[in-house]
Order: sequence, then structure tokens, then C-alpha cells
Amino acid sequence: MVDSLRDKGLRKQMVEDLQKKGIVDTHLLNVFNEVPRHFFIPSSLYGHAYEDMALPIACKQTISQPYTVAIQTQLLEVVKNKRILEIGTGSGYQAVILKKLGAYVYTIERHIYIYEATKKLFEKMDINIATKYGDGYLGWSEFAPFDGIVITCGAAEVPQKLLSQLKVGGILVVPLGESVQVMTKIVRLSETEYKTTEHGTFRFVPMLQDKE
Ligand code: SAH
Repeated sequence: MVDSLRDKGLRKQMVEDLQKKGIVDTHLLNVFNEVPRHFFIPSSLYGHAYEDMALPIACKQTISQPYTVAIQTQLLEVVKNKRILEIGTGSGYQAVILKKLGAYVYTIERHIYIYEATKKLFEKMDINIATKYGDGYLGWSEFAPFDGIVITCGAAEVPQKLLSQLKVGGILVVPLGESVQVMTKIVRLSETEYKTTEHGTFRFVPMLQDKE
């Protein structure tokens, strides 16, 4: 895994682009500058690694657009030592961004091939992220409750099990909808009360319940 001067230069431009699009948190921008996105995509697509677009990975899935990763991360209000659960490990890029922000990261993937490939990548990068092969709708009760849960695939409705694994004061970020998704932030105010806000429309691969 080589991170050349050219890669670094292109990455800097990508970060400037994110800044122009309204991402202002300098700590977050620094982390985007630190993580080589080309490590997370097929080598045939390296030429596109630092364009602000989603790209295909294995099993007809995608690595999210950097802007989308930035928005989801901002909405999660990640600070050091927070415990974050991600649904949809995919390439691992979002998980590594969360880790570099100092969170304890737990991530679930339902495609065995992707799960294994990304677990290996984390080992190769020497990054400590807890990975699980399974259905994200069920969450990860052994490590609950979480300060934040981020769903990186489009969900038709809010998975209730995930809400129950959120701390009081915790935040769930979920793209809600079928063909297009509304980025939705849900804050758990108490055991029984939640506050929901909406943050623009996006396009994600679907969150699936049954294994193919
Ligand atoms: N966070 C990823 C985005 C990957 S795309 C990244 O940074 O690259 C979304 C991923 O969610 C896909 O890999 C897909 O297989 C996975 N997924 C879909 N439904 C799921 C479910 N019910 N549980 C866990 N993962 C799921």
C-alpha cells in the first residue's frame, strides 16, 4: 500500500473541495486528509479515488461519496472515546474516519466476502476496529449501548432494535427512504423520547434484511 506524493496532492484537493461544499470542522477535514481513500477501492479505480463521488466496490456495493461520509460523521458529533456502531462496513473507509477521530468503532457487514476483505484491510493498516458479520438490523447487543449509530445503507424505516441500543443522549444517523433517502438524525432524549431532524437527500445502496 503506497501513498505517493501525487495521492497526497489529490487528497488535499479533495479536502479543499469538501470545505467549499460547506464542511467546516477542521479536525474532521484533517482526518480526511490523513486517510488514503485509494486503499479502500479496487486498484482499477485508483484514478478516481479523490473525486467526490461514490465508487463501486465488491458485491455490487459502493464506497460512499466523501461528502456523504463527512455529513454523516458531522451529524454523529463524534468526539474522542465515544462508542460508535456502524451498519454497513463496506470498504471500511467510513469506519477508519471514525476511528481516526478517536472513537471506539464497531462495524457490521452482511456480505461475507466484503466482511472478510475489509477485516483483512484493517489488520494490514494496523487499525483496531471491531468487525462483525451479520444483520445490522439486529445491532450488536454485547457492546450496547452506543453513543452513536450510523447506518451507511438506505433503510426503508428506522430499525427499532438499533434505537434501543442507543444511550440516552446518543445519536442515530440513518438515510431513510427507498429510491432516494433523507438523511435523518435521531437524538435519544430519554428512555422513551426521541428528537428527529432531516438533513437533505442522498442516494445509498439499500439496507437488506435477508441474505442473498
Ligand atoms: N460505510 C461503507 C459504505 C458501504 S455501502 C463505506 O465507507 O464504504 C453499504 C454497505 O452496507 C454494503 O457493504 C452492504 O453490503 C451493507 N449492508 C446492507 N444491508 C446490511 C445489513 N442489513 N446489515 C449490515 N450491512 C448491510
